[in-house]
Amino acid sequence: MSDERPPLVIGGGVAGLVTALALAPRPVRLVVRGRLGGDGSTLWAQGGIAAAVGEGDDPARHAEDTLRAGAGLCDEEVVRLVTESGPEAIARLAAWGVPFDRTPAGPWALGLEGGHSRRRIVHAHGDGTGRAILVALTERARRTPSILCDEETRVVELARDEGGIAGVHVVRADGTQEFLPARRVVLATGGIGGLFPATTNPPSALGDGLVLAARLGARLRDLEFVQYHPTALDVGGRPLPLISEAVRGAGALLVDEEGRRFLAGRGREELEPRDVVARAIWTCRREGRRTFLDARRAPGEDFPRLFPWIHETCLRHGLDPRRDLLPVVPAAHYHMGGVAVDHSGRSDVPGLWAVGEVAASGLHGANRLASNSLLEAVVFGLRVAEDLARDPIRPPPPARVAAPVVNDEKEELERLLPIVGQTLGVERDAVGLRRGWEAVHALGPKSVASRAATLVLLMIASAYRRRESRGAHIRTDHPAPAATRGRSSFVTLDLLARGLEEGEPACVA
Ligand SMILES: Cc1cc2nc3c(=O)[nH]c(=O)nc-3n(C[C@H](O)[C@H](O)[C@H](O)COP(=O)(O)OP(=O)(O)OC[C@H]3O[C@@H](n4cnc5c(N)ncnc54)[C@H](O)[C@@H]3O)c2cc1C
Repeated sequence: MSDERPPLVIGGGVAGLVTALALAPRPVRLVVRGRLGGDGSTLWAQGGIAAAVGEGDDPARHAEDTLRAGAGLCDEEVVRLVTESGPEAIARLAAWGVPFDRTPAGPWALGLEGGHSRRRIVHAHGDGTGRAILVALTERARRTPSILCDEETRVVELARDEGGIAGVHVVRADGTQEFLPARRVVLATGGIGGLFPATTNPPSALGDGLVLAARLGARLRDLEFVQYHPTALDVGGRPLPLISEAVRGAGALLVDEEGRRFLAGRGREELEPRDVVARAIWTCRREGRRTFLDARRAPGEDFPRLFPWIHETCLRHGLDPRRDLLPVVPAAHYHMGGVAVDHSGRSDVPGLWAVGEVAASGLHGANRLASNSLLEAVVFGLRVAEDLARDPIRPPPPARVAAPVVNDEKEELERLLPIVGQTLGVERDAVGLRRGWEAVHALGPKSVASRAATLVLLMIASAYRRRESRGAHIRTDHPAPAATRGRSSFVTLDLLARGLEEGEPACVA
């Protein structure tokens, strides 16, 4: 007997949709927490997708820029394969109906973002790229008969037996619990920003995939690396709307409440890399000063034409970028860490793949180059689909597995948010990390066992063990990068039982 069941893809962002579409006409079952096309970070991506498609550009230059941003921690082979696959990824998305913007002469219109040495950001509907991608892929998936979709269905646990992965436990919209047997599961559950008090990510970005994989014994990689976006609109609530760095690229300035430009005279000033700008804003706010983006002079009256989505968002919050200062704050934006995967997106657990933001392929290293994440999701989505198609036939999974006890964990999350904000901010140090570790444990055993707390503890331990500053991980007590070449850090769930002080540090400066 062999397993005739289709693989399960968990998550309906760009990573899950590309994987499912590339598998067609092979059957696949897509399991999505919300409505298909209505949830996930993909919907909100503004800048675009990076690919060396412009005249005078080539994948080797794109690779160089990616390696520079990654601060010595990228996997060079992965960087090469992703940047070389960029043009093909754009062509594939366009063929699937993504309406990328073109110049009047015909070729793709290309934007420039921080860290890129060439104009190579392909976009759609200006700053509405993510939405345009999700709409096109969702429509195509709905028209593809080989894709079955379980919407409003949250995966709450994975099951494993001696044959590897055995299936997933889900909770439906009406609260009923069910076991879906499967020998092949792809996690495409997105990032972790929902665990942070200030974030640009949707509330569903709770790192579910990371915890589920870790509970099954998978290794997680580089969890300490969280990219903060320097300019989220500080209007309260979660998530915070994002003001793309393209607005600074168009001339907007960062000022404090007295109108002082706190980045004036520093390197490329407002266009310094994200971590430098985020840290400057963080420092101002720690000193009790308020921070604003001033777009009144530039882009000024051009704002609505250049940034229609952002303009509309500001107006919704009672702010007109042409007349008002825009209050901004750094917010958790992208997780470089994730489930450790190989070049085909396979984790260490037989039958378990991970793709998109939930995965750590080695592309981003210690810091993601702007607009490389959508590209990674597409390239690895195509690779995972190819690998699934080649995967040998496996024995059938068990039809039933004992159901786990599932709590909704809303309360646990609420109690964790302030701890995460204080512990895993733009700047970290050993004292704060130890305090955060203890504060999570003080919430009591039920809270500590929650999915969110499990991930937060693993992140704190990873940040504690990396005794250096590198890329997006800034330790005020170890302000320099370690002299040795960067090394990725790998953790498994057993680290939690061993405690904060145990085990080899990831790096010693
Ligand atoms: C505001 C913003 C702007 C951005 N701008 C850019 C940009 O310009 N360029 C760029 O390259 N990147 C950008 N990014 C990052 C990029 O959007 C994400 O990294 C990328 O979209 C992630 O895609 P994904 O498919 O991995 O995850 P997502 O798009 O987040 O999708 C995750 C999916 O998993 C589902 N899910 C989660 N948990 C479960 C569960 N337990 N059970 C079932 N389903 C689950 C969710 O419902 C969702 O469908 C931006 C991010 C944000 C937040």
